[in-house]
Amino acid sequence: MTGKILEIKRLKKYFPLKNRLVVKAIDGVDLELYEGETLGLVGESGSGKSTIAYMLVGMYEATEGDIVYKGENLTQAGIYRTLRQKREIQIVFQDPGSSLNPKRTVRKSLMVPLAVHDKGLSREQAYRRAEELLEEVGLPGEFADKYPHTLGGGERQLISVARALASRPSLLVLDEPTSALDVSIQAKVIGKLVELQRERNLSYLFITHDLSLMRNVADRVAILYLGRMCEQARTSEFFEKPRHPYTQMLLSSIPVATAEEEMLKPAKILSSGEIPSPVNVPMGCSFHLRCREKMPICREARPQMREIAPGHSVCCHLYEQ
Ligand code: SF4
Repeated sequence: MTGKILEIKRLKKYFPLKNRLVVKAIDGVDLELYEGETLGLVGESGSGKSTIAYMLVGMYEATEGDIVYKGENLTQAGIYRTLRQKREIQIVFQDPGSSLNPKRTVRKSLMVPLAVHDKGLSREQAYRRAEELLEEVGLPGEFADKYPHTLGGGERQLISVARALASRPSLLVLDEPTSALDVSIQAKVIGKLVELQRERNLSYLFITHDLSLMRNVADRVAILYLGRMCEQARTSEFFEKPRHPYTQMLLSSIPVATAEEEMLKPAKILSSGEIPSPVNVPMGCSFHLRCREKMPICREARPQMREIAPGHSVCCHLYEQ
């Protein structure tokens, strides 16, 4: 892990509805990602994690805040990102079935980004490059002439990875890339992603609702709740000393593989209530309706993110002095 490749500062994304209602999908998030690092961005459905992914690749414009990539402010560039900026940040979606065109062969799907981002390649070179890309993700080159529906879910997802790699990215946004796959296939796809990262020094923002997956994949973990950041820490510290009551609740319910991990797990904390609607985010701490440690201040004042140990930050009134 070396320099910072991405910095997200006070990022907000609001979606206005009728009757002056507003969905606050992302409400003041700060994040950093380093070269060659995997940051696991974890949250329940509706926490806003995919909204961050879509802003990073330019599919959504930010309402406020900054996305700084390699020192360049992408939020100010808006839709006018340079071709290099677009090429270097790629996304892999959850469902490869809907992200690959069913009427195109795999080769054609792979040749589209090559035509945009590798203009020096002749048609013949791009034709062969498609097969090389498949081999780079561990698939046979002959798959190039197949249609997506004739392949398995894991194979389709690896093709999505190959398509993202076609533009030689530095940063991959992995938006729940394995949650639609069987566990055994998941392991294969994750193993390949780890291998590719090591070979190419790729940075991954790995978005997931599966906290246990992050234990072996992420260098650092960040927890999102209702569009706000709760806690960020290096993975080992995160699993050994979770501080935010929401993180403790999530960790207390995940399955673990060893007796040692079971000992480190917080005692079972029953999940109370559902995540509220982002149209009606509670005042003060957005988690207070579900928090068993809430105090009077939690209903009134929004807590701020504070570093409580090197590299470990928590957003909770319990840690203010
Ligand atoms: Fe719970 Fe209060 Fe901390 Fe929010 S700020 S997590 S309500 S203790």
